Amino acid sequence: PPTSKVKLENQHIQVAVRLRPFNQSEKKQCSYSVVDANHDKKEVTVKERLGINPTTKTFSFDHVFEQNGKQQQVYNSIVSPIIQEVLNGYNCTIFAYGQTGTGKTFTMEGERSDDPNLSWEDDPLTGIIPRSLAHIFDSLQSQECEFSVRVSFLELYNEELFDLLGSSVDPLRLKIYEDSARKGSVIIQGLEEIVVKSKDEVYEILERGACRRQTAATLMNAFSSRSHSVFTVTIHTKENTMEGEELLKTGKLHLVDLAGSENIGRSGAVDKRAREAGSINQSLLTLGRVITALVEHAPHIPYRESKLTRILQDSLGGRTKTSIIATISPASINLEETLSTLDYAHRAK
Ligand code: ADP
Ligand code: MG
Repeated sequence: PPTSKVKLENQHIQVAVRLRPFNQSEKKQCSYSVVDANHDKKEVTVKERLGINPTTKTFSFDHVFEQNGKQQQVYNSIVSPIIQEVLNGYNCTIFAYGQTGTGKTFTMEGERSDDPNLSWEDDPLTGIIPRSLAHIFDSLQSQECEFSVRVSFLELYNEELFDLLGSSVDPLRLKIYEDSARKGSVIIQGLEEIVVKSKDEVYEILERGACRRQTAATLMNAFSSRSHSVFTVTIHTKENTMEGEELLKTGKLHLVDLAGSENIGRSGAVDKRAREAGSINQSLLTLGRVITALVEHAPHIPYRESKLTRILQDSLGGRTKTSIIATISPASINLEETLSTLDYAHRAK
């Protein structure tokens, strides 16, 4: 059968694909597999057309995680190197992109195993956000330096911002302003930054965020599949150099669980169904355009066209590192969405 192959190379934007196992609903519908993910070859092959003239399409990526790929494996390959950059004072962003139900939240936040004796740190299902914080504290505590770690967690729904860690009873709507002191940065007025002193506080903070997201969704009558959440860790360190000078560093890590990609069509334009349903996702569309512009070294990057890209502006492009984890389903019933996700992810290269 004919096979088309697409290759990529870009140092600053890394793209990974993670295939999840079949779910109950796909099994019930007797859906079959149309995706083959190969970790060693870093390739994903999709059966594009079935029947007597089957065609397949093979995509290569920086990393490919198979159906049984572990959280630890995803962390070690993609996140761990990025934490080093952040500790060295750079801004970095990791996105989870894909159709609703393919594992974005599973990848970013993770889940808890049934075993009640397992701490979150030892739980194999723990996701990127808690693992990153544990890694950051382990690393900072082993160094001879003063440090502070602050986190914030916000949700973006319909181009409106909500604080998921704030202390007010109802999640507040937040406003963003340009930061006049630092070009290309924004200030999110009212967003609370929580100082985290040690690893022990991490899990409770995350649970609070998850709980408030629930409240926010109910208040707004929102579909969680249409909201983006941005978890940000800011690290300040102060070291004394051999020359007796103080060396200050600030690094920032954004961990972004994007809205479901199902309302973006294969061409990257707004899907007709989505337009009719009034669910055009300005931030998701603009993010695609920003990434394409960065990859093509375009003279103008349209950061200002959505809230999400404004918030992330100082952590996308330039001397930053970005990783996209595209999540996909193996099932034939999701073939169109899977191809759409792979096309989008591939364009990021
Ligand atoms: P999304 O956030 O993309 O909508 P979720 O992360 O909520 O999707 O995942 C949907 C369901 O699939 C969850 O029940 C989750 O446990 C399961 N799941 C997702 N990815 C995996 C995976 N890689 N391995 C095992 N289960 C997964
Ligand atoms: Mg989710």
